[in-house]
Amino acid sequence: MTLTVVGSINIDHVIRLAQFPRPGETLTGSDYQIVPGGKGANQAVAAARAGAQTHFIACVGDDALAKTLVEGFVADGIDTQAIESISGVNTGVALIQVNNEGENTISLAAGANARLTPEQLQRHSGGLACEQLLLQLEIPLETNIAAAAQAKAQGARVVLNPAPAQTLPDTLLSLVDMITPNETEAERLTGIRVKDDAAAAQAAAALHAKGINTVIITLGARGVWLSEQGKPGQLIAGFKVNAIDTTAAGDTFNGALLAALQQQQPLMAAVRFAQAAAALSVTRHGAQTSIPYLADIQALLD
Ligand code: ADP
Repeated sequence: MTLTVVGSINIDHVIRLAQFPRPGETLTGSDYQIVPGGKGANQAVAAARAGAQTHFIACVGDDALAKTLVEGFVADGIDTQAIESISGVNTGVALIQVNNEGENTISLAAGANARLTPEQLQRHSGGLACEQLLLQLEIPLETNIAAAAQAKAQGARVVLNPAPAQTLPDTLLSLVDMITPNETEAERLTGIRVKDDAAAAQAAAALHAKGINTVIITLGARGVWLSEQGKPGQLIAGFKVNAIDTTAAGDTFNGALLAALQQQQPLMAAVRFAQAAAALSVTRHGAQTSIPYLADIQALLD
C-alpha cells in the first residue's frame, strides 16, 4: 500500500451566476451541473490522475448516484475496496455557487461522510499500513485522529489539509508531519492573518511549534508559502493562468503534491508539480471534472 486517502465523498450541485445572491434575494443562474466532489474524493482523484497508486477509505449513501461515483473512482485507478455503502443516509451533498470572477460559495450536507467512523477504519486497517496518509476535515474528527495515530505508528507520513477551516485539537496536530492550509485555514488555526510574507512566516512558525515539520500555506494565484522546521520559509510563485473556476484548486494541489512525493520527488519539485496541477484545475469548470492527468501536468512543467 502506498498512498491512502481517508475522507469525504460529495455530489456537487453547481450553479453559475453573475453574482452571489444576498440573504432574501433570488437570482437565476446561467448553468447547472451535477459533478462528483468532496475533498477526500477530489484529492484521491488528483493523486491517482497524477500517477499515484491510491487507496481510498470513505462512505457513500445508498442512493443512485453513489454507484456512479464509485465507478468513476475505479475508472481513475483508485482502490475502492474500503468505500462502504451506508443504508438509510444520503451520499454527501455540496451546493456550490460560482460567480463571474470564478469565486465560489459552498453549503454542505455531510450525509454518509458523518458515518465514516474509527470502527470502519478497523475493518480496513490494512489501508493504514501506507507510506503516506492524506486527511481533510469533512469527516468526524475522531476518525481523522484514529487514522493519523494508526498510520503514524506504522511509519507513514501524515499529511493534513485542514479544510474546511476549523480550529483543531493538539491531539490531531501533534500527529501531523505536513499541513497544507489556505490563508483562511491558516488564520483559523493560528489566529494570524496571512496578509504578507512576514505573517505567513509567523503562521508557519506557530504550526511548527505544534510539532508539524512541513507547513505549506497555499495563497491562491500567488502560489504557496513553504516552510520546513528549522529553515527559513519562502514564497514559491504559482503558474499564471486564466482562472475561470477555483473549485478544487486546493484539492488538486494536495493530491498532486502527494503523488509527486510518492514518486520520491524532492519537496520543492513536488510543490512545483502540485502548483502546475492546481493551475490547470482553475482553467476548467467543476471539481473532479477539472482535475488534470499526468500528461497535462508534465506539459505545463516542460
Ligand atoms: P483553496 O482552493 O484550498 O482555497 P488556494 O486558493 O490557495 O486553495 O489554491 C491552491 C493552489 O492552487 C495555489 O497554491 C496555487 O498553486 C493554485 N491556484 C489557485 N488559484 C490559482 C490561480 N488563479 N492561478 C494559478 N494558480 C492558482
